[in-house]
Amino acid sequence: MPCQLIERMAACDDCRTFAVDYGLNLINSRRPGANPRDWEMPLTLTRIHLDDHLITAHAEWLPERRPGCDTCEAWRGDHTIGPIDEAEALHRAWHLCEPLQEVCAPGVHELTYLM
Ligand SMILES: [Zn+2]
Ligand SMILES: [Zn+2]
Repeated sequence: MPCQLIERMAACDDCRTFAVDYGLNLINSRRPGANPRDWEMPLTLTRIHLDDHLITAHAEWLPERRPGCDTCEAWRGDHTIGPIDEAEALHRAWHLCEPLQEVCAPGVHELTYLM
């Protein structure tokens, strides 16, 4: 069974497109002999599309502030009522997509659920 994030994304065409784009770049960037510098740009670009989509279309998926995360803790002092600002939303999208880091590892084939 795929992880919960993959399962949710599988139901949305845009998620599938953006997550597969990002995931394939992630997998290629981790191949033996890959030069991290060659992958910085495609990873950043595909990630921006994915995060943008998650924040606008699936804001309800964004996790709460993560205890133990310095960045989340830094926001703790701010007000928690009303919409969160964009920087924080992007950071929470990063937490949301953490499973993708594991899914896009050698020998793991969960990304194929989105193809
Ligand atoms: Zn989506
Ligand atoms: Zn955090």
